[in-house]
Amino acid sequence: MGLINKKEAIQKLLEGTPVAVPTETVYGLSAPINNNDALKKIFSIKQRPLSDPLIVHVSSLSMALSLVLNAGDDFKILAEHFWPGPLTLVAKKDSKKVSSLITSSLNTVAIRCPNSKIFLDLIKSVGPLAAPSANLFKQVSPTKAEHVLNELPEAFVLKGETSTLGIESTIYDVKNQTVLRPGSITAAEISKILNKKVNYFEHINTPGSEKDHYQPKQKLWVFESLKTLNSHQHIDHSLMPITNDSKKASEHLYQNLRDFDLQNKPIFTIFDKAWHKDESWIAFKNRLEKASTHWHS
Ligand code: AMP
Ligand code: MG
Repeated sequence: MGLINKKEAIQKLLEGTPVAVPTETVYGLSAPINNNDALKKIFSIKQRPLSDPLIVHVSSLSMALSLVLNAGDDFKILAEHFWPGPLTLVAKKDSKKVSSLITSSLNTVAIRCPNSKIFLDLIKSVGPLAAPSANLFKQVSPTKAEHVLNELPEAFVLKGETSTLGIESTIYDVKNQTVLRPGSITAAEISKILNKKVNYFEHINTPGSEKDHYQPKQKLWVFESLKTLNSHQHIDHSLMPITNDSKKASEHLYQNLRDFDLQNKPIFTIFDKAWHKDESWIAFKNRLEKASTHWHS
């Protein structure tokens, strides 16, 4: 329990104890993919249902290819272009290498190579690591070691930097050419690299895509204009500002939700309608929608 260094983290993982790790997206709670007992501990620490599959983290494309069947050109092109980075690729799994504890009932596996030197060092020492975000199920994802220490007091946490992107990776289903979860890398960027049309997720039912994820403890009210907010001013609330830079807004979203939660009042925020059309806001809007309890256009 508590903060540990890299050597201790490797030791813990080899012993089958999950370790929380810093990444550029959010902090993850990791365990070796070949240790079912360690994987089960991830679900119990997070109170996460076994039906919600985990992302496998690798340190190279060749490590990823050893876990999937018939990866295909698109998988390789995207991995070469975006890895290490915030893009998770979904492909057919090799069932001999990837257990159903990781993928739930699916015959596919979600794989990412994170852009975090210290996490990559762990993977190089221990092998592929499965890691969901290091928070209690459905609650706000952690972007700092202290968030994990506060929320999962029984977890070991590898000392590291604050997450620079602040929201979870983009998840792309290679076979169905579909973004299952929006993130910092947009469908347009993927489409440009592959030179083909890429869709967002509307038609595909992804496990773990519940509407009420990333929720602060307080009610979160989102207003798309000052006018709609004004008609609710009578409620005693705190006002959480959103900067007009989508990258910065994403980077600070979870920290802001945590800070405003501490004020013990409903949180009000204005998410400007004019920004919605721009693809750079899709991931932020997705997280804000799931975090919110009320949304007024
Ligand atoms: P987290 O790491 O907590 O952000 O959650 C991982 C998410 O990845 C899950 O909730 C799923 O939505 C998604 N995921 C993991 N494996 C798969 C898969 N094989 N196919 C589709 N989505 C997946
Ligand atoms: Mg999560």
